[in-house]
Amino acid sequence: MKFKELKLNKNILKALAEAGYEQPTPIQEQSIPSVLEGRDLLGCAQTGTGKTCAFSVPIIQRLDEDAGRGIRALILTPTRELALQIYENVCQYARYMPVTAAVIFGGVSQVPQVEAIERGADILIATPGRLWDLMGQKIVKLNKVETFVLDEADRMLDMGFFPDVKRIVKQLPAKRQTLLFSATIPNEIADLAESMLKNPVKISV
Ligand code: AMP
Repeated sequence: MKFKELKLNKNILKALAEAGYEQPTPIQEQSIPSVLEGRDLLGCAQTGTGKTCAFSVPIIQRLDEDAGRGIRALILTPTRELALQIYENVCQYARYMPVTAAVIFGGVSQVPQVEAIERGADILIATPGRLWDLMGQKIVKLNKVETFVLDEADRMLDMGFFPDVKRIVKQLPAKRQTLLFSATIPNEIADLAESMLKNPVKISV
């Protein structure tokens, strides 16, 4: 299978080719069409499977229609390293698109992060603590979020981030697309998926 067969925009295809991606990984092949259609998704996948591209490429393509109107996609991930990695990948895939991204995480000054948000970002990649903090300061507004990605949900749980995650999710528009990724699906994750996802496509790689 080729990326071209997944009905991707030519500017995205160009960026993927430049990144050296020759063909989609199994999770990309299975996720991209459903995410493009706006379906909810439960993905059982580890890092290294290509899951970042699997969720971010269709999000970028969907936002292309009218980019520049506030944060319309939120990607929550547990660590600073993952947040930065996702941000770098998103920037790479969106290189020839009008879609922009910003990244926020704790442990460093919020000033440059706030400046990036104020310049405008269609996609926000965040760790839960810093996001909750900036929401409290009314710097980040999530009322326009159309797609929400919860990445590495099992690690979020292990790291004690569930209370923050649940508080954040309550502030998101109820009408939205939700994508949940987890390497394992213990009971707590299954319950969260049940409460957050509507008729999800289920993918396991
Ligand atoms: P991830 O699982 O999203 O952390 O991705 C793991 C690594 O695989 C990253 O370095 C990606 O840049 C790379 N990657 C993702 N998709 C592809 C692909 N279709 N072809 C080649 N490399 C890829």
